[in-house]
Amino acid sequence: MSRPKGPVVAIDGTAGTGKSSVGRAAAQRLGMSFLSTGGLYRALAYTVFSKGVNPSDETAVLRTAQNIRFTFERQDDATLKMFVDGVYLGDKLNLDEVAQTASKVSTNAAARAVLTEQMRRVAKDGGVILEGRDIGTVVFPDAETKIYLDASAAVRAERRVKQLLAQGVAADYASILSSIQRRDERDSTRAASPLKPAPDAVKIDTSAMNMEQVIEAVVKEISKHAA
Ligand code: C5P
Repeated sequence: MSRPKGPVVAIDGTAGTGKSSVGRAAAQRLGMSFLSTGGLYRALAYTVFSKGVNPSDETAVLRTAQNIRFTFERQDDATLKMFVDGVYLGDKLNLDEVAQTASKVSTNAAARAVLTEQMRRVAKDGGVILEGRDIGTVVFPDAETKIYLDASAAVRAERRVKQLLAQGVAADYASILSSIQRRDERDSTRAASPLKPAPDAVKIDTSAMNMEQVIEAVVKEISKHAA
């Protein structure tokens, strides 16, 4: 399929595999844009929180999703920066509480359909790398390139600890590992769009790779399909 601004690339995988860092770097090298779709689920979770909506109330969560106005602005670093009702929420979306609630509200099939439409709207002309859980299976089953990144939970937790320590934030390995495992479990066992590799995705286990090696492997894969 040919799109006006280039291909659509889907990068899916478990929590903390470096999908965002890799996707952003690959988009920079290839002159594409980058969208982290977890941001939309995190924004829904944040809005649910701040409006005092019960995350298990399916109808109220759906209504909340329908009422959010998402806008996106491409930044010089290739990122599609997301605004929620005109507001950039920044670091507020990175809290572990928000990630856990995102994983809960993302089991809501009707709310997923609303957010999926937003993702398609942004990327329909192509030239976009999207990372998430169901990009290659549900959002863009016709993506030109599909990549599925994984790494052992222990390696992912270790990387996260290092990342936090580098930022001067105290990090507890055991609680990070358990948080990653809880999200993986919920994301891959839910009925609506569970996390799984698309049959035609290229699977990359990054456990023994450094970031640069993963970026190179991903860029190579995308270039293969563009050739
Ligand atoms: O990738 P990120 O950690 O930002 O995602 C937060 C949560 O949003 C995930 O744990 C998952 O439950 C949900 N999500 C999803 N489908 C996507 C992206 C994220 O269900 N395409």
